[in-house]
Parts: sequence; structure tokens; C-alpha cells
Amino acid sequence: MFYIKVGKRKRNIREDNVYTRCPECGREHAVDLWEVFEAGGDLYTAGVYCEECTAKRAAEKKPS
Ligand SMILES: [Zn+2]
Repeated sequence: MFYIKVGKRKRNIREDNVYTRCPECGREHAVDLWEVFEAGGDLYTAGVYCEECTAKRAAEKKPS
């Protein structure tokens, strides 16, 4: 189990308290770290797109 420390208090890392910024639009959003790990990312280099940009990127990849 990993946890973060805020001052002297420990906080468990849960799926609902880890946030990142979307590299596309800069919006802050919650991220599921396990999904990042499963996708082969890590805490330092992973860029996680928000739902909207993920959908937009998926749509752009589709042949028109
Ligand atoms: Zn975005």
C-alpha cells in the first residue's frame, strides 16, 4: 500500500483522490492510477487525457 503524506498525516491513495491535468486542455481530473500502471505508464511521465479529450482523440483516429 502506498500513501501520501500531508504534513504529518497519512492519506491513503484511493481511486478518487488522485488528480492530474489533461495534457490537451489542462483541465484537472481524477485519474485511476491502476489504469495508468496497467497501460504501462508511470507516475512521472504519464499524461492522462480527460474523458472529453480521450473521446475527441478517439473520434479523430476514426477514418472519415
Ligand atoms: Zn482534456
